[in-house]
Parts: sequence; C-alpha cells; structure tokens
Amino acid sequence: AISKQTREFQAETKQLLDLMVHSIYTNREIFLRELISNASDAIDKIRFESLTNHALLEGNSDFEIFILPDETTNTLTISDNGMGMTFDEVVENIGTIAKSGTKAFLDKVKAANSSADTELIGQFGVGFYSAFMVAEKVVLLTRAPGQSKGVRWESKGDGTYTIEECDKDTRGTTIILTLKEEYLSSEHPEENFLNRYILQNLIKKYSDYIRYPIKMNFVKEEKPLDADGKVIEDASPTQTIEVRTLNSMTPLWTKNKNDITQEEYYQLYKNLFQDWQDPLEIIHSKVEGAVEYTSLLFIPAHAPFDFYQRESAAGIRLYSKNVFIMDNCQELLPEYLRFVRGLVDSPDFSLNISRELLQHSQQLKRVGKNLEKSVLKTLENLLAKDRAKYEKFWQEYGKAIKTGVYADYHSRDKLKDLLLFASSHAAEELTSLEDYTKRMPENQKVIYYATGKDRSTVERLPQMELLREKGIEVIYLFDRVDEFAIDALHEYKEKKFQSVSRGSLELDDIASPETKKDSEELSKENEPLIKAIKEHLSGKVSDVKISSRLKSSAVCLVSDDAGISLSMEQILSEMNK
Ligand code: ADP
Ligand code: MG
Repeated sequence: AISKQTREFQAETKQLLDLMVHSIYTNREIFLRELISNASDAIDKIRFESLTNHALLEGNSDFEIFILPDETTNTLTISDNGMGMTFDEVVENIGTIAKSGTKAFLDKVKAANSSADTELIGQFGVGFYSAFMVAEKVVLLTRAPGQSKGVRWESKGDGTYTIEECDKDTRGTTIILTLKEEYLSSEHPEENFLNRYILQNLIKKYSDYIRYPIKMNFVKEEKPLDADGKVIEDASPTQTIEVRTLNSMTPLWTKNKNDITQEEYYQLYKNLFQDWQDPLEIIHSKVEGAVEYTSLLFIPAHAPFDFYQRESAAGIRLYSKNVFIMDNCQELLPEYLRFVRGLVDSPDFSLNISRELLQHSQQLKRVGKNLEKSVLKTLENLLAKDRAKYEKFWQEYGKAIKTGVYADYHSRDKLKDLLLFASSHAAEELTSLEDYTKRMPENQKVIYYATGKDRSTVERLPQMELLREKGIEVIYLFDRVDEFAIDALHEYKEKKFQSVSRGSLELDDIASPETKKDSEELSKENEPLIKAIKEHLSGKVSDVKISSRLKSSAVCLVSDDAGISLSMEQILSEMNK
C-alpha cells in the first residue's frame, strides 16, 4: 500500500485556496451546489461507461448522493456512488492541475470587488475548492470501481495536503467537511450547514434537477400509539429514521412551457452550466416529426473569459429520455454559434452512441439544422424587437458572428442581416447593413467603409473629408474581422462594398458634373507637377493622381482598386516583422 505522504498544492491552486479561506464572505452556500454537481458528474460518468462495461457497477446501480450532517462531530458529509478516483486521479484532479481558468479567475477576482467573488467561482469551474469557504478541514475518501484499495486525501486548505491508500468498501467518493467554528455558533443562523432544513432548502434551490436522488436522513421522534391508535402521552418517544429524497429529479425541459417560471429556467441554467448570471435568452422547443426532440438552449449573458482564444467552446448536452448521454457535443451547432449552451433530449438518440458514430448520425444533423435555424430566428427577432438587448448580445458575441461570415461560406447569407457596425451616421449608434442601405441616396452605387483602430482615427483620415462634405454615410471598421467579413460578403443587396482608401471613390455620379470636369482639366493643367512628384517618389508609390476626394488635406495615400486595403497592408506588414 502507498503510505501517507504530504504534498504541496500547485502554486496557483494555493492562491485560489487562500482566497477561498480568507477573502470570500458572501454566497458561501454554493459550496454545496458545487460538491453535489461533482457527485452527479461522477455518477453520470459511471452510468455512461457501464453501458459498455457492466462489471464497473459491481452489482450496485442504485445511484444516489447522500448528505449527512452530524452535530456531534461538526461534520457535513457528501457521498456518491459514482466513478470515484484512482490514486493518480486524485493527485491530478485535486491539487496538481491548475485548470486553464484558475489564473484568469485569480486575476479577475483581484480586479473585482469582493462581493462578485463567489459568483465567479462557478463560472471558472474551480468548484471543489469552494469547500474550503466553509470547512477548516476537508477529507476526501474515494475508490474507483475495480480497485481493491481506496484513497484518503486530507487538507486544511493551507498549501499542503496528505494522501494515502486506505480501505473503502463502497465505490465512489465521500467528502467530509469539518465546518469552521463560525458556522456552529448562532452568529449566522441562516448559514448553519448542519441544519437539515437549511440543507434541504439549499438543495431545492440549487440542485433540484440533479437526475440522481439526493438523500438525507431525518430523525422522527414519535410517541407510541395505543391499541386504539391514540398517542400515549406519557410514554417516552421513539426515534425512527426516515430517508428522504430532497430533489424532484424531474427534468425541467420535460415540463410544459407554460408551467415553467423564468426563475426555474434561470436556476437550471446556472446549475447545469455553472454560470452565476442569468442567461440573456432562453429558447425552449419541442419538435415532433421526422426526428423527435426537446431542446433547451441558452445564450449566456457573457462570453467566457477565454472565448476568443479557445478553439471551440463547450457545446450541447445530449440526453435520451431524460438520461444523460454526453456533454459538450459540438456536432450540433456551427462553430459561429459556439457560445450557445443548452441541451437536447431525444428518444431517437441511442444511449451508447460513441462520439465517432455521433458525427455521422443523420438524426443529429437534422436536429442541428433546426437548432441553428431557431437560434438565428431568435436573434433576428431580438434585433427587430429589442435592440438594446441585441446590442448586448452583439457586444459579447458579435465577433463570433463576423468570424462566421468569413469562415463559414454556407452561413454568410444567413448572417449578413445580423451584423452591426459603427458608422458616420451617429457616434453612439450601431447600424445594420439594412439601416445603411435605407439611408443611402438613390444614386449611391456602393457602400462605403473606412478602417482604422477607432472612431477618431477613422474620422481623421483625409479620405473621409469629401464623403463627410457630401453627407455620405461611411461604415467604420475597427476590428480586423470586420474587414474580413466585409471582404467575404463582397456586396449587400447588390451594392458592392467600397473602401474609402481604395481606388477611385466613384463619387462623380453623386457629385456635381462640374467637379468631374474640373478634375480632368486640373490633371491636364498640372501634368508637369504630377510628373515631378512621380519622379521624386518613384519606387515608393505606384501612381500619382489629382484627387477630388480631398478638401483641406494636401495629399493622401490610397490603394489600387485591386490592391489590398491600407489597414490590411498594415496587418500584413506587422505579421512580417
Ligand atoms: P470541475 O467539476 O469543473 O471539473 P471541480 O473543482 O469541481 O472542477 O472538480 C475537479 C475534478 O475533481 C473533477 O473534474 C473530477 O475529476 C474530480 N472530482 C471532484 N469531485 C469528484 C467526485 N465526487 N467524484 C469523482 N471525481 C470528482
Ligand atoms: Mg465541479
């Protein structure tokens, strides 16, 4: 057997623990939700793996999570008969691995005020350590199926932990929290985590839809009855123990839409997807037909902190008749909608489908098409009916949609009306392409755009002068994906996009005829000057022209009609450095 050894937490984990122990004072009750959700995940895991390897169950498939408060020892115990962990898995999962989110979490907490802190915990998936908010000591006992020995892990959250092999009869994980002194005094009666009714309420609040029974013993004191069924008043009471299941386990999405409150949706969302904020939008649909399914999708209020760095995000949870199949199914939604969280429950999915098979599943493809449609429909409605909310959406996920326009050839057309841009029309407003074209003078043939790092940079472009003078609206592109998206679209409602710094502006039709004549005449008159400048700048510019695009500036640089735009040129030259 491996004997007891003391190890250090990885540095960032240490910081995180320190924060849990010393700095967080609000909302600490969520530790219970976090531990129950881990227990539920562990049961999901074994339930799923046992479909192909029945022996894992060791004859016990009555999955449950058990909560045991004990006043005599000041401990709260949470146990599950899930997958458990091997020795190496404990070392890896609890102590060594700094999750990708940990560092970012710490940075964010340092920057935020403390009241937001606990709310961030769930978001960053640092759940297990939240136990140290309420416990002065945490003991974890665990055994994976098929292992003869279990593992005992213990820590006071002070930078080190001990780990050793131990005996454990039952499969799964037991976590024993020795509660901090303050929870035992009457100082915070609402935070007495040994009180069964408080625990019961917390479980109702946070964990009602956990699909496995969360059980707790309630002790009933009853006086015996006489032969007529009447209570014998002067007898001493007998104690009976009643095991109650505290969660309803009915998945919310199977209920009728009209019977679900918004709060219930919100709780489910926060519970399943470990977010601390209400979602921006909920899309619940039941579909019958060629393929039958229920889907419940959410648009989170905020993109994850690393949303734009990560290759692909979480994806959709799959269920079949309320039974969890898998997490993070990415085949269901196109890449550009990867911010959507949610679940699909369909009797047509097979329970033991593998990820490989899933990719070829026709049912899944059909469901995916429908989901995409309904998300886009929801976004279109939002844009039309609740502009403020849509702009919130746009702020978070606009970049993903724009990326979709240039990276996803098939979706381009579906997405073009969801795009918003800054424009010269109004400083505080964003414009859709449709808004822009509605405001266009009839004889304007193209949609003008200008690129730069921000509004004031763009507005100082010499090329903007004439357009401003003529009152022609220009779309401003501040982000390189804006420009990629515009390039990919090429045109909108048969109006081509035209950069103000590329080639001829073709303003002549909108401009008065004299201006055109003027510039031709001017070119002739100034031929010697142009020639001189050309010679002087030879090799540095490809042409020199008299321009009608300037008002107060003397010169400006423009790109060829066919050439890449100036800002693109800047990006390319940066990349070559
Ligand atoms: P997350 O749940 O987001 O992965 P946690 O900090 O809550 O993060 O848990 C860390 C890891 O510890 C889990 O991913 C899992 O591998 C392991 N773990 C935690 N609790 C249990 C449990 N009850 N049974 C089995 N493994 C667990
Ligand atoms: Mg967790």
